[in-house]
Amino acid sequence: MPFTPFHLGFGVLLLAVCPFFDPIALLLGTILIDLEPLFHLLFNVGQLHGVFHSVLGVIVLFFPISVISWGSYKLIYKWFNYQYKFRWYLSLISSLLGLFSHVLFDAGLYPEMMLFYPFTKQTGFLFGYWDSRISMIALSIMFVVGAIILAIRMALKHYMKKKHVTLNNKSEDEKNAVIVSKNGN
Ligand SMILES: [Zn+2]
Repeated sequence: MPFTPFHLGFGVLLLAVCPFFDPIALLLGTILIDLEPLFHLLFNVGQLHGVFHSVLGVIVLFFPISVISWGSYKLIYKWFNYQYKFRWYLSLISSLLGLFSHVLFDAGLYPEMMLFYPFTKQTGFLFGYWDSRISMIALSIMFVVGAIILAIRMALKHYMKKKHVTLNNKSEDEKNAVIVSKNGN
């Protein structure tokens, strides 16, 4: 559970290098599986890393996450007038990638995880292959590098837009000058 926010690092880096993925589906996918330990801690249901931390969790959650994402963009358009070009196939792939990254990162950390449930109940498939500190450091680096790339990308986009507007205004002025001088003649 305290590890949950670290999972976002994978989504942030992937978005930075592949901006065509659905940001909401991808980021939700990286963290939503941890509703399972949250429910366990709050209501004492299920296990900390039970059946949802597995292939089953990925299969059950990937479509609802894309539906949540689709609904969120509808609201964003309604409230902020920002239109996102939603594509179902990209959203579903984003959701799957986020979910798989979560279970794979966790699989190295928790011995009780049944990674391939419901196909097998065997536990600890990837457990012990790497230290939890390595996951935290790797995901933190992913977050920082991804955030820097995203910031540079946004700054460049802003700069290009501004330059485009300036050039357009300039050509409009030139056109007007030509019209004025023609009328003057
Ligand atoms: Zn987890």
